[in-house]
Amino acid sequence: MTAFDALLISKTEAGQTTEWTRLTENELMDGDVTVRVSHSTINYKDGLAITGQAPVVRRWPMIPGIDFAGTVTASSHPDFRQGDEVLINGWGLGETHYGGYAQMARVKGDWLLPVPAGLSRADCMALGTAGYTAMLCVIALEKHAVTPQSGPILVTGAAGGVGSVAVTLLAHLGYQVAASTGRQETADYLRSLGASEILPREELSGKPRALAKERWAGAIDVAGSNTLANVLSQMKYGGTVAACGLAQGMDLNTNVAPFILRSVTLAGVDSVMAPKPKRQEAWARLARDLDLAKLRAMTETRPVRNAVALAPEILAGRVRGRIVLEIG
Ligand code: NDP
Repeated sequence: MTAFDALLISKTEAGQTTEWTRLTENELMDGDVTVRVSHSTINYKDGLAITGQAPVVRRWPMIPGIDFAGTVTASSHPDFRQGDEVLINGWGLGETHYGGYAQMARVKGDWLLPVPAGLSRADCMALGTAGYTAMLCVIALEKHAVTPQSGPILVTGAAGGVGSVAVTLLAHLGYQVAASTGRQETADYLRSLGASEILPREELSGKPRALAKERWAGAIDVAGSNTLANVLSQMKYGGTVAACGLAQGMDLNTNVAPFILRSVTLAGVDSVMAPKPKRQEAWARLARDLDLAKLRAMTETRPVRNAVALAPEILAGRVRGRIVLEIG
């Protein structure tokens, strides 16, 4: 294939434009592996890039899509050959390097991982960066000795992508999971993923106290801002919070009491530049520790042409679970 369809975001004097266009393979960016993309997904960050609500795109024009799965069509990298099924998350995809909303992509082979045994390319994008980040958060809790015996784990933004996978993973691993959501209508859905307690989002989004009653042995927070400050104030002695998101806001107005009086750990989680061994561990664990039936139940499949319409939806918190985008 020499020409292919791609979604291109451009910056003009009038502002940002987004349109489907035809590109040729020689217009792809540098890399040693060329991939026919079969699936991508929509993450919160893709919503920010497409709408221009935050400066995610740092090279213009840009093909958005921070992750994809597909099949190698050409490779000069020693680890990959034609026909291999691969996946990629982050590394600047959709930010500084052409991303997944196109039929073809060219990337560095060092950024790619093979599709893990037991998962399909569609499953990999049902997980996507959201699911892989949820796994990184679970691993961060484990590294800080949070076990199912330690006590209940709180997941914020639970009905979103990271949250839904985090609830499912933790429940499957034997943890008692409390799910915080702003959408009470998702309570049955969250219980079906394994949550045993549902908390209204408002309980955590208001002005934080320095310290509150000890409730959680661990927490996975996608919200930041007041939510994260409240979560920190409610941690049990020695607990750990894995913080990965900013759905409420980028600010964090807290104090040192949880750290110096309760030995609480705040573990930051980044998926974009995570080194390869960490990614390999996370994807191997996802293939092993996730209930695939639950993943498929939380996932909708849409054509990639829906990405532009879905962008404001995910930012408004109206997407439940995960969406796979099929690249025709
Ligand atoms: P989703 O939009 O799928 O989920 C976000 C969820 O956050 C919403 O569904 C909603 O859940 C909750 N939420 C929305 N607005 C607010 C608010 N004002 N206060 C509190 N909660 C709110 O996004 P993702 O799951 O893909 O991503 C979640 C966050 O994690 C984003 O900020 C994203 O940028 C970040 N992220 C970071 C990564 C990293 O590498 N560090 C990687 C992946 C994601 P509910 O309706 O249940 O309340």
